[in-house]
Amino acid sequence: MGTFKTENPGDQPVWVNTNNCKACDICVSVCPSGVLGMRYDSTSTLGAMISIDYPDSCIGCMECELTCPDFAIYVADRKEFKAAGKSFAKLTDESKERQAKIIANNYMSLSEEGVK
Ligand code: SF4
Ligand code: SF4
Repeated sequence: MGTFKTENPGDQPVWVNTNNCKACDICVSVCPSGVLGMRYDSTSTLGAMISIDYPDSCIGCMECELTCPDFAIYVADRKEFKAAGKSFAKLTDESKERQAKIIANNYMSLSEEGVK
């Protein structure tokens, strides 16, 4: 346990190593459940940083982790997560609609809407 992935900082379904994230948006584009978004961040390479806005909506599909080119985002192991008394969410219409809005917002976090 914990030998392959960066250690989960605390029973989270999905987490990020911000030192590796290049703010490429790919994980945001593949998440089906509207969990992720980019936030403006003047201190990061591309002026933005990944943000896990709705962890409670994560369905544990692994798409973000599998597509990240920089090994910067991690998803909890389903068995370990369950053993910790946690469970992933189910995909809902609400989360699908939120994902559509995030995509329409150029992958930016919805809280960043209207920010230039
Ligand atoms: S795919 Fe990886 S590098 Fe790109 S924004 Fe997501 S976490 Fe960052
Ligand atoms: S595991 Fe799936 S639902 Fe969870 S953040 Fe990654 S892509 Fe989204």
